[in-house]
Amino acid sequence: ERQKHIRNFSIVAHIDHGKSTLADRILELTDTVSKREMQDQLLDTMDLERERGITIKLNAVALNYHAKDGETYIFHLIDTPGHVDFSYEVSRSLAACEGAILVVDAAQGVEAQTLANVYLALDNDLAIIPVINKIDLPSAEPEKVRQQIEDEIGLDASDAVLASAKAGIGIEEILEQIVKNVPAPDGKLDVPLKALIFDSIYDDYRGVVLSVRVFEGTVKAGDRIKLMNGGTEYEVTQVGFNSPKPIARDILMAGDVGYITASIKDIQDTQVGDTVTSAAQPTAKALEGYRKMNPMVYSGLYPTDNAKFNDLREALEKLQLNDAALTFEPESSQALGFGFRCGFLGLLHMDVVQERLEREFNLDLITTAPSVTYHVELTDGTKKVVENPAEMPDASEIKAINEPFVKAQIMVPNEYVGPVMELCQRKRGIFETMDYLDDIRVNVIYHIPLSEIIFDFFDKLKSSTRGYASLDYELEDYRPSKLVKIDILLNSDKVDALSFIAHTDFAAQRGRDITAKLKTIIPRQNFEIPIQAAIGSKIIARTNIKAYRKDVTSKIHTGDPDRRAKLLDKQKRGKKRMKSVGVVDIPQEAFMSVLQTG
Ligand code: GDP
Ligand code: MG
Repeated sequence: ERQKHIRNFSIVAHIDHGKSTLADRILELTDTVSKREMQDQLLDTMDLERERGITIKLNAVALNYHAKDGETYIFHLIDTPGHVDFSYEVSRSLAACEGAILVVDAAQGVEAQTLANVYLALDNDLAIIPVINKIDLPSAEPEKVRQQIEDEIGLDASDAVLASAKAGIGIEEILEQIVKNVPAPDGKLDVPLKALIFDSIYDDYRGVVLSVRVFEGTVKAGDRIKLMNGGTEYEVTQVGFNSPKPIARDILMAGDVGYITASIKDIQDTQVGDTVTSAAQPTAKALEGYRKMNPMVYSGLYPTDNAKFNDLREALEKLQLNDAALTFEPESSQALGFGFRCGFLGLLHMDVVQERLEREFNLDLITTAPSVTYHVELTDGTKKVVENPAEMPDASEIKAINEPFVKAQIMVPNEYVGPVMELCQRKRGIFETMDYLDDIRVNVIYHIPLSEIIFDFFDKLKSSTRGYASLDYELEDYRPSKLVKIDILLNSDKVDALSFIAHTDFAAQRGRDITAKLKTIIPRQNFEIPIQAAIGSKIIARTNIKAYRKDVTSKIHTGDPDRRAKLLDKQKRGKKRMKSVGVVDIPQEAFMSVLQTG
């Protein structure tokens, strides 16, 4: 029976430990892609992933493996991202699998996201296959890392494969261990269809393409299916595997990971985590689905051209299909017009969403400074949730502001503990514990305001520890803090989209830093522009953007036509991601200047 020969597994690891490279080697060894088509990090299909060298999306492929026992197996491999902002992709992948390859870098050892991913795998009852990668590196210490896996994770690592994804060492052994140690899926075939949607994407020709894991029953072209959440029904047009290109199959059965298309045009109908069943014989109970993700940060997304508001809505709806952690609702700003308040899992996620909207949907956008959610208690006894700093009530109406705190776990060699604690302290962190994991490595736990973490904490952490520290964090609770709203006035007009929240102790400094920064970012005009920072009606910082001198504009009247064209072109490009507010042009960087100070 075919089911016995199916193996579903994910590859998980801390970022950069070699997941995508290992996936490449597995695709090669199983001849899933021809030599001619092979390229590095093949499953990172988005341009954005390739340019940045990171995996953003989960990616499922089917491949055939001829094992040493003489049998041929169908492997469904799901490559996953390592960055904490995309852990939702990992948790969804794992729910579709029976096993996980845990890749650990032989030189770096166990890091924060290694642990976080192990816990996710254990939550899903997966068989874990440890792989110690990069043994080709001169700094590799595979035996030490083997011990770490046993001590810090509590996994039996005596059979851990010593591998080099780069040099192609140990790959076959990994595949053999998958055959032996990852259980085949079970699930009856002669019962109503029950399949989990773990991802989806919108395709102009095929409509919504559902990535599914079938748990019970079968599905084939022509079947009528029902999406259980909304109760909508469709006729299946095609089922198949991605390998990595879509390949149509006659049937998907319990145990398979593949795709379903059904000319679904109404995007609202499909939700990641929903159960697909048979319309004629629906299954009694839907699968458990996924925990809804709560955004960590919010920011406003506005089209630079106000007429593109509806295009932006449509783009966000389509992107949400492929990015289940993205949330959005309409909002308006006096300065920026109509846009959307969007929720993200972190700043990298926010950055990726803006880039994808611009590239995949051809939009030109302004993103406002990210903000966390504040829980505000008002003097009249009511409570208010504030996702947009501009909507923070007047100080006179506020009894208390509570801000989100995270529990941050930082793993670091002991020689860097000093700088780490200094940084956490500076970021208003509250120390909890410090434990030695072994002779050298220390696990430091702090409670830190989320707003301090999301900005430049990670970069600062990396630079103060020469890249040796790793970070994992989770939202913990809301705690009262002394916070104030700072408004920015340009040419004496308050620009609501530039308002931000700061801790009272740092407010004056932040006000000065930001006005100074804006002065360097906002282009000069032919009149002087005062920039002010204010708390309520009190001005806490001010500076001026000087008017430009005549000769700057006269440059454009250059005689050389080539040079003139270049200048015009440069001006045009400069206009991108720029928004006119009153008489002042504000470039995108201005909205992000809050991030670069403090
Ligand atoms: P991911 O973030 O876990 O997907 O990691 P990647 O597969 O993108 O690899 C991160 C970096 O490590 C890339 O520059 C790879 O070329 C490199 N790398 C991956 N595996 C090995 C290995 O076995 N040996 C060495 N020396 N480098 C590796
Ligand atoms: Mg990767």
